[in-house]
Amino acid sequence: MHPYAILNSDTEIKPHYNSAVEMAGLAISFTGLLCTFVIAFFGLIGGPWISLLLSAGLISGGALLYIFGQARGMKPGIHNDGITFSAMQFRGWTGWITAILFTGFYIIIYWFGDWLHNLVAMVEPMSQAIRNAPADHWFLYGLLYTLAILVMGVKFMYKYQHSRYHLIRTATLMFFQLGFAFLLPAILMFFKEPEFYFSYFWPLQFNYLFPNDVHSLVSDPGALGTFMVFWGAVMSFIATPVLTYFYGKRWYCSWVCGCGGLAETFGDPYRHLSDKRLIAWKFERWIVYGVLAIITFTTMLLWASLTLEIGWLSSISGDLAEWYGFYIGAIFAGVIGVGFYPLMGSRVWCRFGCPMAAILGIIQRFYSRFRITTNGGQCISCGNCSAFCEMGIDVRWYAQRQQNIVRASCVGCGICASVCPRGVLKLENGPSDINRAAIQVRKNGIEVAE
Ligand code: SF4
Ligand code: SF4
Repeated sequence: MHPYAILNSDTEIKPHYNSAVEMAGLAISFTGLLCTFVIAFFGLIGGPWISLLLSAGLISGGALLYIFGQARGMKPGIHNDGITFSAMQFRGWTGWITAILFTGFYIIIYWFGDWLHNLVAMVEPMSQAIRNAPADHWFLYGLLYTLAILVMGVKFMYKYQHSRYHLIRTATLMFFQLGFAFLLPAILMFFKEPEFYFSYFWPLQFNYLFPNDVHSLVSDPGALGTFMVFWGAVMSFIATPVLTYFYGKRWYCSWVCGCGGLAETFGDPYRHLSDKRLIAWKFERWIVYGVLAIITFTTMLLWASLTLEIGWLSSISGDLAEWYGFYIGAIFAGVIGVGFYPLMGSRVWCRFGCPMAAILGIIQRFYSRFRITTNGGQCISCGNCSAFCEMGIDVRWYAQRQQNIVRASCVGCGICASVCPRGVLKLENGPSDINRAAIQVRKNGIEVAE
């Protein structure tokens, strides 16, 4: 090898698409994409199941082949070479086009679902088979969402194959998405029970503690509905603080949540695009706690209006709930949260908008045993940890000062520790007095001596 090969963009750091298997995978996926457009605009090709095979089947199959081609002979370790040269992964023209397509897809899903009637027809037999109910564009969306997590989860597992933490974590995320967020609600519908998501809780699934939903669950399906309300309340107010005390917010954000699941797998190629500036941190705190305050206030107002039976209160609380559903639930969480992956990184919603993350963050910062410890003497200030932190935390800043990292926003994904070439960072659960000490050290601006 030429001694300067590492500096030669033609040889070493150019993204590679050259293996025959990878090319075949890409070709199959593009054929699937083309078939999807044909079906969407002109109708089914040879019936629903064949169309589904030609669309989602080819896209997923091609993607898996591509992933397999990339992973063949891959040595253990992180392979992030060439990311800054990739238009797709570093806000180049393909990244922008992808962001526009993602955003457009979300706008169609939320407001022009009827346009997808041909694609909905394609999943009709599947919906009948597993839900015993007609398909709609939300069922189509749930299927695509789940496939995205499963296929890109495989890619993620190949990439981080050297880390048992990531293998187990990703398998768990895939399990919760497939089992709890896709199949279980479908099976409930099959038996004419309410479509309930046991892995989402208030305030993320804000309507689960709204009076209307609580009443319809308790009154209609009876015992099971009452259990659903009970489950949601216990998870929100008891399990969440207890689990976060022991494990930090990672137990939910990086192991269970579907939004986190999509970010960790489908969004992994964009994780480094999170804004690391202090101003972003300031915005983050104002916005995320602001959203938490609004949804808490809205929920309380809805219950107050129901209890007090005051007409104007009922109309204000109803309007507020509608406003929240539209601007936060649809535009922020969906259109911006996922549509902007290729521009702002994979955790825009989790970082700036999710009220569940806000609650978990408060508990994590003040009452949790979770922290990332640093062996700063080994740090070479390469900045990998900060670059690949999807929550925009400047991890290196702490490592250089040998400070433990106790941050409300950290989702405990563990990528900072995995990409560190010197083994400086370690995710730990331990006595929370260390966390309080870390916060104190930061507050006082004291740098820990060697
Ligand atoms: S600090 Fe590390 S573990 Fe926490 S969110 Fe960032 S990369 Fe993930
Ligand atoms: S990745 Fe490791 S060595 Fe590099 S700056 Fe972060 S802590 Fe230091």
